[in-house]
Amino acid sequence: MSEGCLICAKHRGQGPLVGPHVWSDEHVIVSHRPVEDDGTTVLGYLFVETRRHAPTLDALTEPEAVAVAKAAWRATRALRAELSPEFVFSAIAGRTVAHFHQHLFVRYHDTPDQYPWMESLTWPGAKRGDDTEITALAARLALHLD
Ligand SMILES: [Zn+2]
Repeated sequence: MSEGCLICAKHRGQGPLVGPHVWSDEHVIVSHRPVEDDGTTVLGYLFVETRRHAPTLDALTEPEAVAVAKAAWRATRALRAELSPEFVFSAIAGRTVAHFHQHLFVRYHDTPDQYPWMESLTWPGAKRGDDTEITALAARLALHLD
């Protein structure tokens, strides 16, 4: 735990990043992105985060790195099975919040080329859902991770 860390706060169930829980084990927690100010978010945007406050990929222990890889692989397969996207993107950036987190998000079919990567989330045709819908999706995704 680190005071002032938004992801540590999220794991305590506090703060703006708290979203529906998908799956967890002793090392990692997988969750869906919470709704934004308009009460919706793109369906199929997950985070894989370490329980321990470790800032970067190279700061993980080997068991944590293995757990992250396995969770990301399973979560990607879950997104593929539930949403049939064109693609599932994966990104580890971490410049803004120094607590390891991996982004996994879908690119919906027919997304125009002018929305190449992160921009595909802003395409008006990307499916969005409210709290009820993302919670239901998280429950369906969870079935693929156990
Ligand atoms: Zn933290």
